[in-house]
Amino acid sequence: MKQFQTESKRLLELMINSIYTRKEVFLRELISNASDALDKLAFKALTDSSVGLDRGDLYVKVEIDKEARILTISDNGIGMTAEELERNLGIIAKSGSLEFKSGLEQDENRDAADIIGQFGVGFYSAFMVAERVEVLSKAFGSETANLWVSSGIDGYDIEPAEKAGHGTTITLCIKPDTDEETYSEYLETYRLRELIKKYSDYIRYPIKMDVTHTNTEGGESREHTETETINSMLPIWRRPKAEVSDEEREQFYRAKFYDTEKPISSLTINAEGLVSFTALLFVPRKAPYNYYTRDFRPGLELYSDGVLIMDRCADLLPECFRFVRGVTDTGDLTLNISRETLQHDRQLRVIARNLEKRVKDELKRLMTEAPEDYAEFWTAFGTQLKYGVISDFGAKKELLSELLMFRSAGLKKLISLREYTDAMADGQKYIYYAFGDETRSNPRTESILDTGYDVICLEEDTDEFVVQTLTTFDGKEFRSVNSDDLELPDSAETKEELEKLSAEYKDLLEFARNTLNGRVAEARISLNLKGAPSYITTRGYVTLELERYFKSLPNGEGNQMKAERVLEINAEHPAFDALKSAYADDKTKAEIIVKLMLYRALLAADVEIESPTEFAELLEHLMVS
Ligand code: ADP
Repeated sequence: MKQFQTESKRLLELMINSIYTRKEVFLRELISNASDALDKLAFKALTDSSVGLDRGDLYVKVEIDKEARILTISDNGIGMTAEELERNLGIIAKSGSLEFKSGLEQDENRDAADIIGQFGVGFYSAFMVAERVEVLSKAFGSETANLWVSSGIDGYDIEPAEKAGHGTTITLCIKPDTDEETYSEYLETYRLRELIKKYSDYIRYPIKMDVTHTNTEGGESREHTETETINSMLPIWRRPKAEVSDEEREQFYRAKFYDTEKPISSLTINAEGLVSFTALLFVPRKAPYNYYTRDFRPGLELYSDGVLIMDRCADLLPECFRFVRGVTDTGDLTLNISRETLQHDRQLRVIARNLEKRVKDELKRLMTEAPEDYAEFWTAFGTQLKYGVISDFGAKKELLSELLMFRSAGLKKLISLREYTDAMADGQKYIYYAFGDETRSNPRTESILDTGYDVICLEEDTDEFVVQTLTTFDGKEFRSVNSDDLELPDSAETKEELEKLSAEYKDLLEFARNTLNGRVAEARISLNLKGAPSYITTRGYVTLELERYFKSLPNGEGNQMKAERVLEINAEHPAFDALKSAYADDKTKAEIIVKLMLYRALLAADVEIESPTEFAELLEHLMVS
């Protein structure tokens, strides 16, 4: 008996004792090898007329003998000589296989399909399900056949044998069932059929199986067996776009991605260039139940010329578009992806860049051409896009900014930032934003709306980070309605009036600031507070909302982040008259009013007050005075 080369032996050991899930991929690997062998012969026939062979004669056949627990996969491809059997099945000479091995060793819990798919160790995966493997092969043009036999790590034998035509027949003696694993499933026609459909549907050669049908006629059941081609050979994404109906695409989507609803959008891509590929992508209508959890596995199916290489190739899409489902197929990876990781990364990156742009364009198209669909999409995945803006220090903000939607306080509907800036008045400098939904009353928002400017509503906690990360849209900065300087186009009169009042009550304002003793940076007169006696605005980057967010972080990490507060006092409110007269006659009372103005503003802004005790005392004062 011959010994396997050391590396092969180790890999084989891993396969035999494999604890990996989805051992079923062995079938894909063997069929894929058979398809390669058919390709090689087809190529030979193309370049050598003496071969005298038609591509249509080539096929793969899968057969089972349930009683004997035998599964065979045969092809009439190029076949192997004795030397080739020795070289190809006894030694692992390929870098990919070595990487595969180290991949397995690093993370034994990984799904076999992912790793095998990435590195294509193919043949040895047969040992995940078989206790003994025989390879009977006759090279094209050769007179003799050979039989390679192995029951695992002990080694293998090669001896001359008889075989009718060229090609290879792989015979697997399926392992007995154990408590954990029912290997018998690989002896069931329906199961094999399912696996062929799942993994090898688009192999360009027919994969044949003998299928027995039972006809019941007149109470008598008769069986007849037919050889059927299981795979459809031509995937939907390879067919010209115009020949595939929307209905078919929808069916395909639902069946493949287990969605009960039709997708919001489907996207057919045929790209030629550095890397040529076809893709069929879908934007789902609803987020899967586990979408916002760690259980959700994003990624596209990756095919290499019709052979499924990876179930969920996450590298094909940026994180922010992880909701997209679909398939990508490229011939340009065929001989690289499974073997050279570096190359595979580079080519995938080219595809990924292209897909990212296409998905963005499609979403933009939906936004303008199918606003209702887009609104539905936004409900399902808007949060994802917003996270996308914030992640990686805003790396994707350019890509995503045009796709964002916010409620408009003025229009009471969802609008894009583009709609906002398009509707901006001459001289309007900022994109104004307020916190909470549009029903939350806010005198500042109201006065901005009065000016004729719109205000967008930040409804989620993270929204403020979104606008802070964007910093600008269309060259316009964002500004909180609580900012101390809104730069509204006050009429000349108002401006004059404000200056006059500020000068007149300079002492009173200074008194207020001192009374509040460091709690506000400034106290000042305001004329745009609607019915509110007082209001808190902030200066600089940290707003009250950010302050609150940072405070909520564990370990008080963000306690240092404090908003610089400005107390605005409404000169048109009766409370101001009360303050004025108290300031003239009764300084203690004036202090109470100033403090109450601060508390009143903080409470209205939903800010946690620092000294509830003091607030309670002030209220008591009011009760008795
Ligand atoms: P890979 O397919 O990644 O090269 P495998 O371990 O699956 O690795 O196969 C090793 C080699 O054995 C293949 O490259 C091929 O040359 C040969 N081989 C496997 N199966 C067949 C087959 N059915 N017909 C001809 N050659 C085969």
